Amino acid sequence: MHIILAYPRGFCSGVNIAINTLESAISRFGLPLYVYHEIVHNSWVVEDFKSRGVKFVDDIDEVPSGSRLMFSAHGVAPDIRVVAAQRDIETIDATCPLVANVHREVIRYAAANYKIILIGHSGHDEVVGTMNEAPDSIRLIEKEDDIKKLNFTPDEKLVILTQTTLSVTETAKIIELLREKFPQNIIESNSNICYATQHRQDAITKLASEADVVLIIGSQNSSNSKRLYERGKSLGIRSILIDGPDNIDCNWFNDNDTVLISAGASAPEYVVQNCVQILKKNFNTTIEERRTCKDDALQINNKTLPSD
Ligand code: SF4
Repeated sequence: MHIILAYPRGFCSGVNIAINTLESAISRFGLPLYVYHEIVHNSWVVEDFKSRGVKFVDDIDEVPSGSRLMFSAHGVAPDIRVVAAQRDIETIDATCPLVANVHREVIRYAAANYKIILIGHSGHDEVVGTMNEAPDSIRLIEKEDDIKKLNFTPDEKLVILTQTTLSVTETAKIIELLREKFPQNIIESNSNICYATQHRQDAITKLASEADVVLIIGSQNSSNSKRLYERGKSLGIRSILIDGPDNIDCNWFNDNDTVLISAGASAPEYVVQNCVQILKKNFNTTIEERRTCKDDALQINNKTLPSD
């Protein structure tokens, strides 16, 4: 078996920031410490913090007044901040700077009387938080088919924004169709897909043709991990998404297979390496790492927004 380890893979800057912020809070303040939603969407990371006493909640009513609450990498709706302040809950914000940037764009476009078409997944923590910044100004669409539900009057100014962890190719197609349907209305179109999502998808696109199987390490509720799995599938390569080594079934592979391995932006490298160890134990393996981009450091698009 030949294993190609895609690079970049795994933790992005936003996930590193969130995890380091939680580590620092544990050291500095101790327990009890609450986190609103999963700090990042990865079961290994969350279970590790749970075993150390951190409490994850999905409802702010579960957080006692006067305690400490951290907001996850996916950001939070503004009404949660208000409730926290009213209940004297001390908050620590671990929102990824790129998600916070989308919140700022929503606020400023809404204030400039734009209607915002947000492309994203309904119910995802990031989308819930983003939409709540200006619920009356935003329409959410998830897929091409949703475009037909949209209607705007000719004088309405539109801007397209997106969730940060979408499929690059599908989102580009949806934006193109929106521009065709509303050529007069759409003034701005900003894909907010982040550098980390883009780089990890690019790596699969560039390397998948060399592989018999694409193996993605990441949790099922991780949007960018699922997009990597879908990218492999869309290229016609058998693709598998697993949370970790316990999920590997060696019958999936043959001795002569080339296996391309990548990991979602919230999947720890030690989980990737543990998966590689399982394959090494069961097959004669050769391993190489292939870099498809030089610099995977945090990148923020500097755009001129309406109120600038
Ligand atoms: S995947 Fe992108 S938006 Fe999400 S935490 Fe990482 S850098 Fe931030």
